Amino acid sequence: MNAAPKTLRHLSDLEEAGLTLAEKRAALERVAAQYAVAITPALAELIDRADPNDPIARQFVPDAAELETRPEERADPIGDDAHSPVEGVVHRYPDRVLLKLTHVCAVYCRFCFRREMIGPAAAPLTPKQLDSALDYIAAHPEIWEVVLTGGDPLVLSARRVKQVISRLTAIAHIKVIRVHSRVPAVEPTRITPELVRALKAKGKATYVVLHANHARELTPEARAACARLIDAGIPMLSQTVLLRGVNDEAAVLGELMRALVECRIKPYYLHHGDLAPGTAHWRTGIEDGQALMRALHGRLSGLCQPAYVLDIPGGHGKSPIGPNYLTRVGGSHGMARYDVEDFNGRRHAYPPPR
Ligand code: SF4
Repeated sequence: MNAAPKTLRHLSDLEEAGLTLAEKRAALERVAAQYAVAITPALAELIDRADPNDPIARQFVPDAAELETRPEERADPIGDDAHSPVEGVVHRYPDRVLLKLTHVCAVYCRFCFRREMIGPAAAPLTPKQLDSALDYIAAHPEIWEVVLTGGDPLVLSARRVKQVISRLTAIAHIKVIRVHSRVPAVEPTRITPELVRALKAKGKATYVVLHANHARELTPEARAACARLIDAGIPMLSQTVLLRGVNDEAAVLGELMRALVECRIKPYYLHHGDLAPGTAHWRTGIEDGQALMRALHGRLSGLCQPAYVLDIPGGHGKSPIGPNYLTRVGGSHGMARYDVEDFNGRRHAYPPPR
């Protein structure tokens, strides 16, 4: 009987699977020594070995270009540390916190914004640290939503997820629990009925936000895993990172957004690439992102429109970065006149109030 395929974690595994070449080993050893590598069997199967620009490979197979860092890149590009009152908690915005339970992921995205902090070598939250994190959340009644992130919280066992969700459920002022994960797409077999039950928080709203960057990631197995969550009453949203050579064409991005909506997943964010070290080769210009958003606007259903956002380097939070369709053309406060642009690029006057 053949053994079940395993997650590829070593360069020898990648070479054997035909994903990297032995002659590139020396440079890739340096990449792998710095940034964790993992490609699940579901993803390895998706990669087209004959396509040197395969968008799935590009996201997960290490590349020597990751060794080139730019002066503007930083180890903590979105400034988590500056807003971390206790280990595992990031409290950047008034009404919500991130709770980072683990630094492990099912796969390691080569462009990850937390790439300096995640990986199998990074220690998970200890029971004592988790107690302190939950004490902090309980002591701050302004916190309405807790975002479980990491690493990927859905690599944890159903039993552990249930424990954490139960403890959060006991905090009266927490109304929403949001889980950010790649797992439903990259390791759909982990979305078991037990895990789905563990995610359901009695009396609270649980959302799962799927990280997906290309329509091919939504395989039949991934779609079925998402359906298990949604059918159980867990709404799903998505977040996508805008990546050069992966989804920076309107047709490709549009196909992803439509595929998500067909899976009953509402596109939520399109992230501009963060200034993580060694990731310049994935970043597009902001104008490129705005042009893509314009291409989606009006041509695809409103359900398919994510918000294009930039995490301001240094920990200042996310801001929507357009495009902007409205220009003020005159008038004083309260009597301003505007030009508004339609989806064909034509401008129309919008009058002041009478
Ligand atoms: S799953 Fe998320 S945290 Fe993990 S490597 Fe990918 S982007 Fe980073």
